[in-house]
Order: sequence, then structure tokens, then C-alpha cells
Amino acid sequence: MVRLLVVEDDETIGQALRASLAAHGHEVEWVVTGQGALERAEGRTFDLVLLDLGLPDLDGVAVCRELRTGQPEAVLVILTARDEEMDVIIGLEAGADDYLTKPVRLAELHARIRAHLRRGDAQSASVGSGRTVLGDLVVDTASRRVTVGGTELALRAKEFELLARLAAEPGAAVSRETLMSEVWDEHWFGPTKTLDVHVATLRRRLASAMDAAVLPTIVTLRGHGYRLDLPPSR
Ligand code: CA
Repeated sequence: MVRLLVVEDDETIGQALRASLAAHGHEVEWVVTGQGALERAEGRTFDLVLLDLGLPDLDGVAVCRELRTGQPEAVLVILTARDEEMDVIIGLEAGADDYLTKPVRLAELHARIRAHLRRGDAQSASVGSGRTVLGDLVVDTASRRVTVGGTELALRAKEFELLARLAAEPGAAVSRETLMSEVWDEHWFGPTKTLDVHVATLRRRLASAMDAAVLPTIVTLRGHGYRLDLPPSR
């Protein structure tokens, strides 16, 4: 059974989320404050946390950061009102894996949860098993390790899978649809910037990995998707 923590101070939204998630067979705990979330997360681990950023007591981003540290394996999805794009970016930088804008469409919420919790073997298989060396970057799908100049780069599950998928075909354009279906879920639907924010995080992690590292570049292909360009030769 999937264990979920819902952090939402709005009673109507919180109740609707809890009811819908429970109806899908998930075990749900619902708290209405940031402090409540941190206390709940101390005692047990959750598979996924839905976190409203606008909380009555604590700063939602700070709660996000603490949850990330305390629950490294949990998928953190932030809930935000429309047009609060800065919040989304800050939340993702604080360790969230994804975000949903309010009003939350329940069908989309369930699709996202399914996509995030579909981890491990199935996805490793979709990117094959092998070792790709691109300049200083080594992507090893068998061990799920990425190194830059011999130093391991800590990536979250979806960041790794995204990089591995792009690295499987260096220099080839990969469509958004392909990335969404292979890295997330074939039933993923609706507009989402989740792919783009994962790419942005990946770029940032690669850029901060090592001074003067020779690395491939993730190129944005407008209206299509992304391409991992080979690094320049030394
Ligand atoms: Ca709120």
C-alpha cells in the first residue's frame, strides 16, 4: 500500500484530496500545518508527499527542504495556486520532484502519482543496461550511477532516468512525448512543465559538478523536445 502525506490547510481541498486518494486504495495522512507535517514525517516514511506551499505556520519552501532531508526516498509534489511560477521554481530547487497547480484535477493527480511511483526495474529496462561515456560524464544504467570526472553526481530518480534516456541516443532529437511516456508514464497527460524543470535541474547539477568538466549539452528543441549534444573534443 502506498503511504501518502497530504499537507494542506484548506479544509475543503484537504478533505477532497484525502477522500479521493483513499478511494484509490492509498493510505493517507492529512495534516493542516507545516509543523504537523514535520512531526508526522519524523515518525515514519512516506512514499509521496503532497505539499501546499501556502501554510499558516511555516514557510512552505522551508518545510519542503526539511521533508527532502528527512524523507530522501519520498516523492515530493508541491501544490500551488496558478501563476505562482516563482514558488514552483523555488519549491523545485528546495527538493520537490513535481508540482500541481490548483485547482487540482483529480484525474491528473492520480496519473502523476502513478507515474512517480512507477520506479525501478521497468524504467531501467527502458533505457537499456550499459555504460555511456560522454567526455567527463559517465552514465551507467546497470548501477544507476552518474559520474563526472570520477566523482559521483547525486541525481534523483527521474533526473537519472531522463539523463539516461537522452544519453542512450546522443545527438538524436527526443520528443517530449517520448520522454514523458518513457521516463514518467505512458498515460501522462495534460500540460506540464515537469519535464522542463527536470531538465533545468539536470543542467544545473551538471554545471555545478566539476570546474572545467567536458560535458554534453542538453539542447532545447522548441516545439519538439530535447537533444543531448556530444561534448566538444578536448
Ligand atoms: Ca494554503
